[in-house]
Amino acid sequence: MSSSTHYPTASLKPRREESLQSGHLWIFSGALQQPPYWIEPGGLVNVKSATGQFVARGYYNPRTDIAIRILTRDIDEAIDIDFFRRRMRSAVAQMHTAGMERLRPFLIEALMEETRARGLLLRNDSQSRRREGLEVEEPVVAAGGVPTRVTVRENDVLFLVDPWQGQKTGFFLDQRDKRAALRKYAHAKRVLNCFSYTGGFSIYAALTSDKTRVTSVDISASAIEDAREHFVLNSIDPNQHQFLIADVFDFLEQARQGGEQFDVVVLDPPAFAKTQSARTQALKAYRRLNALGMQVLRPGGILLTCSCSGVIGMDDLLGAVAQGAQRLQRTVQLLESYTHSVDHPINIAMPETAYLKAVFCRVN
Ligand code: SAH
Repeated sequence: MSSSTHYPTASLKPRREESLQSGHLWIFSGALQQPPYWIEPGGLVNVKSATGQFVARGYYNPRTDIAIRILTRDIDEAIDIDFFRRRMRSAVAQMHTAGMERLRPFLIEALMEETRARGLLLRNDSQSRRREGLEVEEPVVAAGGVPTRVTVRENDVLFLVDPWQGQKTGFFLDQRDKRAALRKYAHAKRVLNCFSYTGGFSIYAALTSDKTRVTSVDISASAIEDAREHFVLNSIDPNQHQFLIADVFDFLEQARQGGEQFDVVVLDPPAFAKTQSARTQALKAYRRLNALGMQVLRPGGILLTCSCSGVIGMDDLLGAVAQGAQRLQRTVQLLESYTHSVDHPINIAMPETAYLKAVFCRVN
C-alpha cells in the first residue's frame, strides 16, 4: 500500500459491511462501532469491518446522519486528482458535502481537464450544505470564464440557461425523456403545464402543432419571463399561449371553479419532502395536487404527474393519484412510467438514488 492510501480508520459494527459489499455507498452513524473522533468533518477514512478487514474508503462527517460516503472499494485507490480524472469520464459531481468540499482542488482541476470546459462555475448555494456544516456560498467562477447566458440544445429544442441565477444548476436535465414523451399526447391539444419553470414541457408541447395551446404556470416571475423568451427562441408565437405567475394550488382551485378543462395536465412540483419526517405532510400535498389536477382534466385526458422527493416512492405517487381518482369517481390507466433521464443513473444497490418518479396516465 502506498503512503497516499494511509487514512484513519472507522470501524463498523458486526456485519454492517454487507450492504457496502453489494454496492451501497452510504454508512449511517448507527453502523459505526466507534466514531473516528479525531477526524475533521469531511476527512477521508478507511472503513473496516468488525473483524478488521478493509471494506471501503470514503469521507466522514460527524454532523450528518450519513456518517460516511464511500468513494472507492479499492484498497489501492488513493483519493487524489487521478481519482477524479478517472471518475470524470463517466460522471460529474456537485459539492453538497463537507468531504467533497475538502477535495475541491482535485475536483476542479480534473473537471476542467476531462470535460475541456471553457469555464467552471461553482453553484455552492444549495441550502443542503448547512446540514453538513458548510457555508451557503454565492456562485463563484472556479476556472476560465462563465457567461450569464448559455444556449443549450435538448433533443431538437433550444433553451437559454443562466448558470449564475437559474434554479439548481439552471436547467432540469432530469426531465429530458419525459419532455420528449409528452409530444405524443400534445398534438393540437390544450395543455396545462403546472410548475413550468422556464417552460421545458411547454415548448415541447407547443412545437407539436400550430393548433396546440399551452398554459404555463409558475410562482416565479423570472421563470415565466424566461419561458416566454424560450417560445420566441424556438420560433413559437408566445401570444398564442398563456403564461401565468401564480401559486399552482390557487390557480387550479380557480380553474376548477371556472369549469376549465384541459386535454393534458403536467404536474412537476418541487420536492414536497426533503426528509423522512416531512413525509406525511408531503403525501397530503401530493394527494391534493393530483386531485386538483384531475379536476381540470377532461374525461379521457392525459395526466403527467411527477415527484422528485427522495422519500416518496413510486407506490406513494401512484397512491396519491389513485386516491384522488377514487374521490372524484374517475378511473385511471397507467400508460408509461419513468425515473430520471440517463445522465442521472440509478445505483441499483441504492434505491435512494432513484429520486424522480413520473407517470403518464389516462384519466377517464
Ligand atoms: N417542470 C420544470 C421544473 C419544475 S421545478 C422543468 O421541466 O424545467 C419546480 C418549479 O415550481 C420551480 O420553477 C418553482 O418556481 C415552482 N414552484 C414552487 N412552488 C410553487 C407553487 N406553489 N406554485 C407555482 N410554482 C411553484
